Formats: sequence, C-alpha cells, structure tokens
Amino acid sequence: MCRVIVICNQKGGVAKTTSTVNLGIGLVKEGRKVLLIDADPQGSLTASLGYVEPDELKTTLATIMMAVINEEEIQPTDGILHHKEGVDLLPGNIELSALEVIMGNVMSRELIMKEYVEQLRERYDYILIDCMPSLGMITINALVSADLVLIPVQAAYLPVKGLQQLIKTISMVKRRLNRKLQIQGILLTMVDFRTNYAKDIASRVHETYGAEIEIFHTVIPFSVKAAEASAEGISILTYCPGNKVGIAYKNLTQEVLSYEN
Ligand code: ADP
Ligand code: MG
Repeated sequence: MCRVIVICNQKGGVAKTTSTVNLGIGLVKEGRKVLLIDADPQGSLTASLGYVEPDELKTTLATIMMAVINEEEIQPTDGILHHKEGVDLLPGNIELSALEVIMGNVMSRELIMKEYVEQLRERYDYILIDCMPSLGMITINALVSADLVLIPVQAAYLPVKGLQQLIKTISMVKRRLNRKLQIQGILLTMVDFRTNYAKDIASRVHETYGAEIEIFHTVIPFSVKAAEASAEGISILTYCPGNKVGIAYKNLTQEVLSYEN
C-alpha cells in the first residue's frame, strides 16, 4: 500500500525540502520504493538532488499537470529522474507559478495533481510531495493528493502563530475534498539544543498543539552540514553519515515506518 505524504508549511526556511530529501532517502535505505515530487516553483528539491538548473528541464510537475488539464495522454513515468541514492524525483520549476495562475479557470482545479498521483501509487511505497511556502492552488492540490501531512516547524520565534492558518486549510481540505487526509505530525527542525530558547519553543509547541496533533518524538538538530549536503546534491545520510542531523533523520524514518503497521 502506497502512502502519500505531503511536507507542508506556508513558512519558508523551515526545512521542508531538507526533510523531504532525507526522509525520502532514509526510506529508500530501508528498502522502500520512493518518489519525491517537487511542488515548489523555486525547484529547491530538484536542485538539492543535483539537478542544479531546474528551469532547463523539459518535463516537470508543471508540464505533467498541464497535460492532465488538457486531457493529453501521459505515461506515468514521464519526466521521472532517478537519483544515485535510489530515490526517484519528479522535478519542479518556475513553470509551476504560471500554472498556478492558469488553474484559476480550470474545472475541478483542486483535483489535477491527484489524478496524476493516483496513477503512480502502484509503483511506490511512499510518495513525498515537497510544497512551496504558500497555501495556494498547487499546495491545495498536493493536500488533496495525500494521505498524510508532515509539518516541519523551525524551533524559532513564534512558529506557533502561522500554524493556525495551515491547520485550518488542512481541515478544510479534509472536510471538502479529501476525507482520509490526516496530519501525521509536527516535526521540530533546526533545534539548537544549546539554547534554552529552543527548548522553550519545543515545549510551547507541545502545550499549544500536543493535545490536537501528533508531534514526532524525533527532533532535528541544527547543523551547518545540512546545507553543505544539499550543495553537493546528496542527502546528509550519505554526505556525513555520523552527523547528528543524519542520525535524527534516520530516527524520523523509523518513526514513519512504525506507522506502517
Ligand atoms: P524550506 O524548504 O522549508 O524552505 P529548506 O529545507 O530549504 O527549507 O531549509 C532552509 C535552509 O536551512 C537551507 O539553507 C537548509 O540547508 C538549511 N537547513 C535545513 N535543515 C537544517 C538543519 N537541521 N540545520 C541547519 N540548517 C538547516
Ligand atoms: Mg523548500
């Protein structure tokens, strides 16, 4: 059974892309078949897997969604790239921005990505969708396609506020468009354990949301190695296996796998 997890937070710089890469490759290392989908016009996921010019790619999520809109025939494997660490990638680029505008007039516009993702479910154990920092139509499409939402939250000043809007959007999608959608959990990222401040925020997130939403036991620490790995186009698991961020993503992988049963 395939699980589609959307990595979503309308705030930028909270480690959505980093979490998509390292959880995705973590799952591959545990023998799962994994597809990553880049649903951000910035193409950061695509770039951080070594495809440094996302805008040059011919077939991307945008062209696939355009084909769905125009009811053109597509092969489910069109445009999928195979990364050396064993993960598959459907890249994304700037064309997603134009698509977002075009979609204003498309019939059943919330369901376009789902139509595509459904065709891929039989090929993968996990499909991870990396969202852009907004709650626009592409992100809604990702939420409609998904089973689970993973919400990375940076342990920094008041992440708490922005989460309300996200949770509201998720509930609305669940009520109107995708009954089976569940929040898998909040993932605290870039935690600097040396500061009391980070601990304070962690406990604040627990107080505010713990009753309502799962919070992953694993927290992702802060380390500059995370940025270095993405500059190399590989996961931190491979770039620097003993690093605390890599170890944390391995633990997160185990936590996600524990929900399989
Ligand atoms: P988002 O996709 O939410 O915008 P990114 O994954 O691109 O966030 O991360 C934002 C920045 O923070 C990037 O430069 C990334 O390399 C860096 N980063 C991500 N995780 C960590 C971490 N655990 N420690 C330090 N820096 C990190
Ligand atoms: Mg990103």
